[in-house]
Amino acid sequence: MKLIFEKSSVGRTAVELPDFEYKKADKKVPKEFLRDDVNLPELAEIDVIRHYTELSRRNFGVDNGFYPLGSCTMKYNPKINEDVSRFAGFAGLHPLADDGLSQGSLQLLYEMREYLCEIIGMKGFTLQPAAGAHGELTSVMITKKYFKDLKEDRKIILIPDSAHGTNPASAAHCGFDVVEVKSDADGNVDLAELERLLTKDVAALMLTFPNTLGLFDSNVTKIAEMLHENGSLLYMDGANMNAMLGVVRPGDLGADLIQLNLHKSFSTPHGCGGPGSGPVGVSKNLVKYLPNPVVKKKDDKYYLDFKNKESIGKVHAFQGNFGVIVKAYTYIRKLGAQGLKDAGENSVLSANYLRVKLMHDYNLPYKRICAHEFVLNDLDMPNHVTTGDIAKRLLDYGIHAPTIYFPMIVHGAIMIEPTETESIQTMDRFVDVMKKIKKEAKENPDLVRNAPHNLFVKKLDGVKAARELDVKYWPGC
Ligand SMILES: *Cc1c(COP(=O)(O)O)cnc(C)c1O
Repeated sequence: MKLIFEKSSVGRTAVELPDFEYKKADKKVPKEFLRDDVNLPELAEIDVIRHYTELSRRNFGVDNGFYPLGSCTMKYNPKINEDVSRFAGFAGLHPLADDGLSQGSLQLLYEMREYLCEIIGMKGFTLQPAAGAHGELTSVMITKKYFKDLKEDRKIILIPDSAHGTNPASAAHCGFDVVEVKSDADGNVDLAELERLLTKDVAALMLTFPNTLGLFDSNVTKIAEMLHENGSLLYMDGANMNAMLGVVRPGDLGADLIQLNLHKSFSTPHGCGGPGSGPVGVSKNLVKYLPNPVVKKKDDKYYLDFKNKESIGKVHAFQGNFGVIVKAYTYIRKLGAQGLKDAGENSVLSANYLRVKLMHDYNLPYKRICAHEFVLNDLDMPNHVTTGDIAKRLLDYGIHAPTIYFPMIVHGAIMIEPTETESIQTMDRFVDVMKKIKKEAKENPDLVRNAPHNLFVKKLDGVKAARELDVKYWPGC
């Protein structure tokens, strides 16, 4: 398929503008706005529509089919969320409009914060961070300020080997030294190892919970106790809160800080670099460090309070990705308390259903009840068919590949997360397809190795792509 720039034809246009002599009309228009040498594609409306419709047909999203991408929580995003976020009063509000003109939006932000405090069991929340990793960074900044105020120079952040890869990056970005904690044979944090590493230099432990093996660490309250006794903080990466919604509150387990991913657990669309939202919740002694401004309420009027001097400052323009917050707010209001609990329980039920259905055909390294996801690998595959081959073959059957080769503590990992929004029929079809691929691997391994066969793009040479990067570009772009 050609780039839209390659389809350009000089002089072709989709709109007819009235004649307008810019230069005469307004001498003050800056010169750079009057350029006619900008290399933009020139196409008729029909060409533009066909181009983007064709691109969308080649894409795969949760609205096309089953998308069991572990850790990413590709659950269905109810369309009512989109409707509400497009209400003119929300979508059209200028971010600099004063408090008096923004009452509805401020009320929504205020209530959203209160809902999250209640659902997660924390004392305060900021809605500013734009993504999960941004929420991690915000949390690490708060941690840093907390110890600075205590005049304690703690340099280390402990991170289990089952953590999400963004955790060490966030800690290092903020100037901490990262020390890895090994998992034990059950996939929990190794307590003896934690004990050994827990010196007075340790500021915090960043615990992905549930971890990237899809497991609840059964010693979590013990871990919290050990950290607190040492004066350290327990940070939870709650990106995959799906598995706990309405059932467990991280605050009750001892978390001092947590980031959520509204674009995972609270059903707002994500992928392709679109906007996300990674709110951060904190315990009582950390509330004062949350980013400014904070939405407050007095005599039934909402207002933005910028006064907190101990705040770490702003981490995003205005109130974060407001539209995303509106979608997640709609989701919470639509489900209510019981609905959230059902979502949490069903996400765990779905994952365990698939785990049990597949564990006789595929190797399951950690034989335990899982949370929202589970990890298989390619150890039992005939003819050395690999995880990568299985993932590509799934595409031929109209199923998005699971997350593969992650977490790295499992060789050839296949991380599967069905989410609560899939029907039993969809999951049964996935099981059938996975079993079929196993059979193909035995009887016709090349069919699997050379997949995909039915897509626009065939099997790519991953090594060549990495070694000889060839990114098409359009001069002047
Ligand atoms: C997705 C994810 C992240 C990163 O979130 P982004 O929004 O992509 O920055 C961090 N931790 C866990 C456990 C995740 O699943």
